Amino acid sequence: MDANHDARRITTFYSASHLKHAPHIEFLHGQNVPYFEMGCRLETIKQHLLDDKLIDLHIVDTPIEISLIHPAHDPKMIDYLRDVSENVERYIRDDFAIYHMEDQIEDDSYFYESVFPPQSTDGFYIYDSVSPIGKHTWDAVLMSATLAVRGADVLLNGEGMAYALCRPPGHHAGRRFMGGYCYVNNAAVAAYHLKSRGKVAILDIDYHHGNGTQEIVWDDPDLLFVSIHADPTQDYPHYVGFASETGGNNAPDSNINFPLRHGTTPDVYLDTLDDALRRIQAFDPSSLIISLGFDTYKEEPMGHFLLDISHFEIIGRKISALGFPTLYVQEGGYAINALSAMGVSFFRGVLEER
Ligand SMILES: [Zn+2]
Repeated sequence: MDANHDARRITTFYSASHLKHAPHIEFLHGQNVPYFEMGCRLETIKQHLLDDKLIDLHIVDTPIEISLIHPAHDPKMIDYLRDVSENVERYIRDDFAIYHMEDQIEDDSYFYESVFPPQSTDGFYIYDSVSPIGKHTWDAVLMSATLAVRGADVLLNGEGMAYALCRPPGHHAGRRFMGGYCYVNNAAVAAYHLKSRGKVAILDIDYHHGNGTQEIVWDDPDLLFVSIHADPTQDYPHYVGFASETGGNNAPDSNINFPLRHGTTPDVYLDTLDDALRRIQAFDPSSLIISLGFDTYKEEPMGHFLLDISHFEIIGRKISALGFPTLYVQEGGYAINALSAMGVSFFRGVLEER
């Protein structure tokens, strides 16, 4: 990095609210294992980007109006999420009462809703067992969405890029469903905010398909969704993310999936990224949102692609070279000891190209 880049750090939004959303465990093949989506993920990325002077950090204290979430989500689901979080002990006690276990509630308990398929009936919204709701979950979720909106505001004010250090992540949350550690779809909320000035493209480079984002923007011709992810026949979320899914009746060709097999090499990945970027260029959006996952790394505990740290710099450079006003929204990535190196590599690439 030369001296010029110091003056052009990426405007970044952060809130410590996420730290209090801290489920203890998840359930894997009959065993309790530590919750993968933990707060130190975000903290290590933030700290190393600060140390390397790549970001200009803005601490956000004031949440957005909830109405800014409603274009992306059914207000009834949002009300439910908030109500469970604010009254979590009652929800758990009522459920335990069925089994005469009322006395077993503990401090800092999390409510695990019964699991329902996406798009299910009113009143049931969570489709897996890794998205529990605790008393601080609502605050964390609302602030996470707030960071994405603040980042979008930076683009609306005419700046070229911003980064939202979102946690919980969002891309597995749909209009009426929550799951995959996600409750509110931060990228989709930002997309509707940015739509006020024209078409928006969302490029999802998390290892997992952004099933929530796809579902939310499916029928909107002004929102392009492009995703590079693990083949759903091999990996989460399994039921969606195929190349044959190309958009709703009102928005044909507005959804572009690039499923890739386990063991995908950097060469194949980067060629696919070039294809994806050409599709975005052809759409010519007024803004670009990147759902930024770092779980494509070769030592990712939940992933099976073969990218090394240095490839994230190339990815950042290629995205930045498009020249669209771009909001980076943090999604997944669980290789705790390498996340900061990936973040530094990626944003070096982004800033080099500007
Ligand atoms: Zn992921």
